Amino acid sequence: IFIFGIETSCDETAAAIIKNGTDIIANVVSSQIESHKRFGGVVPEIASRHHVEQIIAVFEETLEQAGLTFQDMDAIAVTKGPGLVGALLVGVNAAKAIAFAHDLPLIGVHHIAGHIYANRLVQEMSFPLMSLVVSGGHTELVYMKEHGSFEVIGETRDDAAGEAYDKVARTLSLPYPGGPHIDRLAAAGQDTYSLPRIRLEEGSYDFSFSGLKSAVINTVHNAEQRGEKIIPENLAASFQASVVDVLTEKTVRAAKEYGVKQVLLAGGVAANKGLRASLENAFGKIESIDIMIPPISLCTDNAAMIAAAGTILYEQGKRDGLDMNGHPGLDIEEF
Ligand code: ATP
Ligand code: FE
Ligand code: MG
Repeated sequence: IFIFGIETSCDETAAAIIKNGTDIIANVVSSQIESHKRFGGVVPEIASRHHVEQIIAVFEETLEQAGLTFQDMDAIAVTKGPGLVGALLVGVNAAKAIAFAHDLPLIGVHHIAGHIYANRLVQEMSFPLMSLVVSGGHTELVYMKEHGSFEVIGETRDDAAGEAYDKVARTLSLPYPGGPHIDRLAAAGQDTYSLPRIRLEEGSYDFSFSGLKSAVINTVHNAEQRGEKIIPENLAASFQASVVDVLTEKTVRAAKEYGVKQVLLAGGVAANKGLRASLENAFGKIESIDIMIPPISLCTDNAAMIAAAGTILYEQGKRDGLDMNGHPGLDIEEF
């Protein structure tokens, strides 16, 4: 089975071809980060325009890498939500045009399901499993009892983990997106600033990062007022330690309580070295639970993950019509 995947939900224009749900035949990502950097974040209108300008070239490069044509495909899978509506619509409409022109089935994919399925490009999934999704717009624990079944058992009540990284980076005058910069600084620093671990009510699997973000901002402002210098490496290390501690603690508790066989890490923040090390260490001590972490290139937005999730939907007989729309607030439990 060859699935052609398309992803345009945010600021990456991406296409990929996946064979049998697990083998990457071609994977092309065109990033717009340079165009958004000077605004300190993604500007929706610019993102849509870039997708329109890039998408045909990205498709051509993907087919060329694979040495295949659209006639060789079994279906077209595309991110139908969540994301920026104007950005989503570029991918959705391109997918519809190709599906119509080549008489191929059309499959709409949930972006976060895609992030989770990036793991299947590395190793087979075994159920039940728990996925910790940490990205620019989401932070949630997703329980899966089988393929295509998603139950959100906890989620952020305010900022997503990636959003907190990006805001803290801005406070430290680091460029957008700030996650990788904080990660790099943290590796060179030590956890010397005492920042809160926000765990919410006992037993809760929800997250909250806005208080931590405010604590970092206050630390910087207080130091400025006293005419003291902060040590960016140490502040980054302290912030990262707080995020990683809470994420690890809740993931371990959820994995044990739900009796899962596997824990999967997913989303852009899964690229974080501190988080990867902490989860590997924690689950390394629990023999009955495997931890799976995708390579960094598959953690941030790409279309290989969309085609991987699309393959499962294809096998389950799920299809979308040519009236498919983009859904900025699509729910993973119902899509
Ligand atoms: P969503 O997937 O929720 O729709 P998104 O697609 O914009 O949001 P991703 O592309 O999955 O998000 O992830 C981008 C986020 O990952 C950014 O917030 C970025 O700062 C963060 N990120 C990337 N690398 C790292 C890293 N090494 N450490 C921490 N954060 C990182
Ligand atoms: Fe994403
Ligand atoms: Mg992105």
